[in-house]
Amino acid sequence: MKKLGCLALCLLLLAGCGARRGGDRQSQSATLFAMDTVMDLTAYGPKAQEALEAAEAEVDRLDARLSAQRPDSAVWEINQGGGAPVPVDGEMAALLERALAFYGDTGGALDVTIYPAVEAWGFPTRAYRVPDQAELAQLREVVNGGAVALTGDTVTLAPGMKLDLGAVGKGYAADRIVELWTELGVTSGLLNLGGNIHCLGAKPDGSDWLIGIRDPEDEGETLCAVAGCDMAVVTSGAYQRNFTQGGVTYHHILDPATCAPADSGAASVTVIGPSGFTCDALSTALFVMGPDRAAAYWREHRDFDMVYYTQDGALFYTSGLEGRLTLRDGLEGQMLT
Ligand code: ADP
Ligand code: MG
Repeated sequence: MKKLGCLALCLLLLAGCGARRGGDRQSQSATLFAMDTVMDLTAYGPKAQEALEAAEAEVDRLDARLSAQRPDSAVWEINQGGGAPVPVDGEMAALLERALAFYGDTGGALDVTIYPAVEAWGFPTRAYRVPDQAELAQLREVVNGGAVALTGDTVTLAPGMKLDLGAVGKGYAADRIVELWTELGVTSGLLNLGGNIHCLGAKPDGSDWLIGIRDPEDEGETLCAVAGCDMAVVTSGAYQRNFTQGGVTYHHILDPATCAPADSGAASVTVIGPSGFTCDALSTALFVMGPDRAAAYWREHRDFDMVYYTQDGALFYTSGLEGRLTLRDGLEGQMLT
């Protein structure tokens, strides 16, 4: 089951509900449920209340647009296209273009046409089931990010194809909130969108944020903590949503190549970088790719950092985190260079 709000732990003392005053450290916090998850938002400074209201409105707007399940969302309309072109606005076209670029760049590991498979396993409705081999083979026919036809203002899916922006939506929402807060002049804030952490600026006292990454096997334990500012810290883990049937546990990150839960050796993958969207896309993709392909991908790109924890209990992290990562006592980590 979903462990709401516990996907990653913030080791900082977050401001509780309501306002805290004291110079620039005045803060406001809110907890809301949107995009099928719990979100905690904290903004600092004199515009904190306005910032929270703007963030809540933006999250609601995006939820209404991006949800594959909500009738009349923009994604839902695209999914009803039945093979005909569906008009899309600039925001949707840009989002799809970015997501499809990751499809190409990750060898298909991030595939936003995964929705027919996500539905077949029962994740959206929580009516979980295990599709048989014949059904999985049929699903593989319609899960194909390479077949999305995107022009500047229309998108066309072949009959049977359906989009799911679940792997990137929260990352995009975090980026949008950061943009809105920056426009308002907010220079310090912390977002936890169901485990997608995003730090705006530094802490109000100017020091780094310290973000804990949870142990996939133990909700109450952290593997390590990452220090930094102006960063997204996004984790994809097999523990986030799953069900058990016949003694086997099936989780919600699917390998588009099989249309079944990715069995890559990953237990949790955390990606750290400036863009929430990129970190969200990569955390899902690198989970699907498994530790070896993920390490190779990082070596080719080197424009993000990651903490990779395998099912065997091995932890490795990229060299950009040197000096910023504190491992739990007794845990060994290996640095990728
Ligand atoms: P979470 O949303 O739980 O934080 P992720 O960012 O990893 O985790 O996204 C997982 C969601 O993305 C799934 O619930 C599903 O809707 C969708 N998804 C699953 N596998 C893939 C995939 N390989 N590519 C794109 N989307 C996926
Ligand atoms: Mg993701």
